Formats: sequence, structure tokens, C-alpha cells
Amino acid sequence: MRQQLIKSEKLKAVEQMGAAISHEIRNPLTAAIGFVQLLEDDYLSRQKRKEYLSIVKEELHSAEKVIQDYLTFVKPSISLSEEINVKSELRQIIKLLQPLANQNSVEILTDFSIIGFIKGDPQNFHQCLINVMKNAIEAMPRGGYLTISTEYNQNYITITVKDSGIGMTREQLERLGEPFYSTKGKNGTGLGMMVVYSIVRAMDGMIDVESEVGYGTIIQFEFPTITSILKVR
Ligand code: ADP
Ligand code: MG
Repeated sequence: MRQQLIKSEKLKAVEQMGAAISHEIRNPLTAAIGFVQLLEDDYLSRQKRKEYLSIVKEELHSAEKVIQDYLTFVKPSISLSEEINVKSELRQIIKLLQPLANQNSVEILTDFSIIGFIKGDPQNFHQCLINVMKNAIEAMPRGGYLTISTEYNQNYITITVKDSGIGMTREQLERLGEPFYSTKGKNGTGLGMMVVYSIVRAMDGMIDVESEVGYGTIIQFEFPTITSILKVR
């Protein structure tokens, strides 16, 4: 009974969240449609046309950002439980983010332990680390180092994501993960870390964040390892 109550409350929260997010996507799309309609006018001046097009682009970008930060989170509720090869997943994620890193003159350094499998939904794991690494790169607009390292012991795999970026104040740290909390204005969604926290929770993991303004941020994850697999291989 109690269990059910908790479940239905959770479901409600997810539904409310979903409503808030579809709002976040619908608003910019509605704006974009409006401006596209204005663009249909044959007698529009060149300058107006340019202005409207740049608004359309901006609105579409902001809808796309919400989807990017949130995508795997709203998948059908059954999440897979598979073996995740941490090292190869991390390599894939880094490859995906390399263009963004290059854009910001960020050098990605890695130091991976030899072996490690964890249990969870690979897509969720992807989303979680992409959101965190994207934040790290975005915190270094004038370049820096993004260091990804893993450590492994019998019970846990530790994944550390360290940046030499702008860092966070105590207040920012406290609000991290709050839905829609962002210091990036139009460039942020404030959904990335909320999604990270919920995925880590679903994977029975832990997350620890340390940050210092002007020096950077260290985000450390701990996920339980699959020991049986280690014994077999
Ligand atoms: P968004 O990236 O869209 O702003 P997030 O939920 O991903 O939303 O992050 C929320 C806020 O946390 C960011 O706006 C930023 O202020 C702060 N933040 C997260 N990661 C870092 C980081 N590595 N360095 C500095 N600030 C960060
Ligand atoms: Mg983010």
C-alpha cells in the first residue's frame, strides 16, 4: 500500500515534470512557427527577413537544447539493465564531445583503469556523462583541460570528471540539479543536472561535486561493479 503510494506520487512528479518540459519545447516552437508565417510575406524587406530568420534559428536551437539534455530521460519507463563496459562507453562519449571541446579549445585527457563493468541502461549512462562533460566544457569558454579518469576496486567504479573552468559558488552548488536552474541564460536549459541525478539514483550510484570559483569543478561518480563478470572474464 505504502509502496504504491510512493510510486503514484513519483509518477505524478514525473508527469508534472513532463508537462513543464513540453512547455519548454512548445514555446520556442510556437514562436518559430509565428515567425515563419511572417516570412511568407513576399514584400518583406531584406533586413526584416534576416531578422526573422535569426529569431527562428534561435528559437529552434532552444527547443533542441531541451530535447538534447532530456531525451533519454523521457524514454518509455522500462529502462534496460545491461552490462555497461565503462571504458568503451566513455571513449564513445568523448568522441561525440570532441567537436564541442575543439570549439572551446578544451583538451580532453584520460586516465582509465584496466577493466570495469557496471549494470544499468547504457543510453541513460550516456546521457548522464554527456550532460556532465558538456557542462564541464561549457565552463571553459576560453579553453582548459577536461580530465576523465576511472578507478576500480572490487565494489565500485569511480568515474571522475574534472574541469579547469569557472567553478561554482556555494549557492550554485546547492542549487545544482534543481529543475530549470541555469546560469547560462538563453544557452541553458537547467535540466542537465536534474537528469544526471535521477539517472545516478536509478543506477544505485553516488555523485559528489566539488567546486571552486576560478579553479574548476570535480564531479565524481561511484557505481557498483558487477563482480561476477570480473570473475568470469
Ligand atoms: P544548463 O547546463 O542548461 O545550465 P545544468 O543542469 O546542466 O543546466 O547545469 C545547471 C547549472 O550548474 C549551470 O547553469 C551552471 O551554472 C552550473 N554548472 C554545472 N556544471 C558546471 C561546471 N562543470 N562548472 C561550472 N558550473 C557548472
Ligand atoms: Mg548542462
